[in-house]
Amino acid sequence: MTIEDKHEFLSNPEILQHYSLLQDIGVFKHIDGLNREIRNYKNLLSGAVDIFHRTTIEEILDATVWQISDQFLPSFIVFLWKPLQNKEDITIKGYKNYKMVDLAIDISSIAPFEAFFQQYPRPINYDLLVYQLNNSDAVRPFENIRPELIIPILGPSGLYGLILVGHKILEDEYTVSELSFLEQLMSFVSQAIQNHLHYEHSVRDVKTGLFNHGFFITSLNEEIARTNRSNYSSSLIVIDVDKFKNFNDLYGHLAGDRVLESLAIVIKQSVRAGDIPSRFGGEEFTILLPETNRNTAWIAAERLRTAVAGMKIPWEPPLPQVTISLGVFIFDNRTNLSAEEIIRRADEALYLSKERGRNRTTIWGSGLLFKIERGKKEAS
Ligand code: GH3
Ligand code: MG
Ligand code: MG
Repeated sequence: MTIEDKHEFLSNPEILQHYSLLQDIGVFKHIDGLNREIRNYKNLLSGAVDIFHRTTIEEILDATVWQISDQFLPSFIVFLWKPLQNKEDITIKGYKNYKMVDLAIDISSIAPFEAFFQQYPRPINYDLLVYQLNNSDAVRPFENIRPELIIPILGPSGLYGLILVGHKILEDEYTVSELSFLEQLMSFVSQAIQNHLHYEHSVRDVKTGLFNHGFFITSLNEEIARTNRSNYSSSLIVIDVDKFKNFNDLYGHLAGDRVLESLAIVIKQSVRAGDIPSRFGGEEFTILLPETNRNTAWIAAERLRTAVAGMKIPWEPPLPQVTISLGVFIFDNRTNLSAEEIIRRADEALYLSKERGRNRTTIWGSGLLFKIERGKKEAS
């Protein structure tokens, strides 16, 4: 349409008449509303995609903070996150202008909100919540920051956390459609958290929190394939607690379990990011160390062995020191062995550690079992 055509079109009295009619009955306003709604859905969709791409709970929460901040520019956002294991404290993270800040909220549990949000599973205005909870002590910790909104994060096993959102910097109130946007966004957040928890459950050993046998085998196979395509070597350490049957017999299975939990903590602390520590079964553990040569594997194994020999086990009355024996196998693109054969060789080295008095590390060497001992190494 040329400019002249357009001019003619717009000055056509018939068109003008229809235009006014459409305006009068609110068609254009309606279209504006629809456009706004489309924009909201687009934001919601891109927000959901962003949240579902995150792989840890921390990242999911961070992405959610970003989404809410972008959309509403609130004066602050606070996350309260229920501990996944009862021993841990509640996590509190406050943000102002996308930056983490300490907002001094003194709260130890979100349990007092559980019943209410089970009944009313959506974002709620803070004053209304105070009213609904009959001004109970539960909301007192939020009194000093006075949030505008409280958003529950819910899943099949109840209330996981709360998000407190401050008033908007630019306007006063959250509208009904904004609340509905938040409600929909949070249903994605809950689902993403659920997915993450299910995944964690499927790859972790319940007692120790280390990776489980299945995940270890999968990872070892992947690592074999990776080393076959590259020029680096990788290492496998297998670990077995010394004389553990005796220990159980003397101090009981519960004390034995506590040893395994303490050992798992020491293992987690001793590995590098990228290493894969697993519970192989019973009192046997493995650590897969990608891109790790003989020397580094030796140092890692010995560091762990020493740390375990000095490990404190929280138990009354105090328990005697526990030791571990270790076997190490190093593989690269010339090794040409299956996962099973690699584990068997690391086990052979472990067996030699046991035979030679326990509380020591042995590295498997080609042909013969290479006898590397701490004492020998120090002597040379
Ligand atoms: P060695 O130094 O030769 O390894 O002696 P050991 O007694 O540790 O060897 P063995 O493999 O015969 O015994 C392992 C024991 O570990 C048997 C079992 O009672 C104990 N055990 C395995 N899993 C668990 C567990 O989850 N909890 C407890 N408390 N004990 C376990
Ligand atoms: Mg054993
Ligand atoms: Mg043992």
